[in-house]
Amino acid sequence: MNTARFDLTGKTAVVTGGAGILGARFCGALAEHGANVTIVDLNKEAAMETREKLITNGLPKEQLYALDCDVSDPASVAAMVDATVERFCSIDVLLNNAASKSNDLEAFFAPFETFSLEEWRKIMSVNIDGMFLVAQAVGRQMLVQDRGGSIIQTASIYGVVAPDPRIYEGSHYLGRQINTPAVYSASKAAVIGLSLYLAAYWGEQGIRVNTLSPGGVESGQNEIFQQRYGARVPLGRMARGDEMLGAIVFLASDASSYFTGQNVVVDGGLSCW
Ligand code: NAD
Repeated sequence: MNTARFDLTGKTAVVTGGAGILGARFCGALAEHGANVTIVDLNKEAAMETREKLITNGLPKEQLYALDCDVSDPASVAAMVDATVERFCSIDVLLNNAASKSNDLEAFFAPFETFSLEEWRKIMSVNIDGMFLVAQAVGRQMLVQDRGGSIIQTASIYGVVAPDPRIYEGSHYLGRQINTPAVYSASKAAVIGLSLYLAAYWGEQGIRVNTLSPGGVESGQNEIFQQRYGARVPLGRMARGDEMLGAIVFLASDASSYFTGQNVVVDGGLSCW
């Protein structure tokens, strides 16, 4: 097969959560394959820094645009879509990827029995309401363009299977005891459902909608967590961030032109046993 099927030259991609651990890598990979990329993040400085880093790494600055946007705010989402279209004329790929780790870790890591409704709604407002708002606004733009498009929504392995509570004994991240809260699993399962719905809904218009479900990515978790997590995975370890990039480029490009409504699970085999 001709590798041109993976080429994204002339296409424009919007990546929400574009300044994050995975988001920044996604922006780099899409730009490397020729796409114009709008790096969208709640954190404006982080979005601009991500752009600068990608330029320092050799990517053309004309292909990269950094924008701040709160995906849970319809007006902010509308402004982000308008600004992207003004800058690059179209949107062909959406990587709906932003998720909230909360700014209140006490509330976020609280046990299920005492988890507050306020925190539940705060996380849902980004992890699923935000996906809805951005897919709606970008989907409308793709329909106006009338040449299809590819939407990729980031869920998680924990939208597919439950986290094993045993791996969190003695596990630390960001200097504190951690777990995966139910709101995270529930929001990510909802993302998979939204992708299925939209794949069916926009299929005839040529808008493909797929989900990426990453397994746990190594990003500074302590040794105990890495060992316990790795022991649950057939490949025996956490993922590296760059191990998601092949799937992203495949889903964004014409290499996946007959691929829609699928959940691409990149989990080292965690969900296979
Ligand atoms: P991250 O926390 O590093 O990045 C998320 C980004 O989203 C941050 O830059 C943050 O500023 C931004 N964001 C938060 N709220 C926002 C809002 N309201 N509007 C716009 N942007 C907002 O996360 P990551 O590790 O890069 O993960 C990316 C995606 O992959 C997320 O959907 C996450 O749930 C999923 N995921 C990650 C892992 C992992 O191990 N890292 C595993 C499975 C799934």
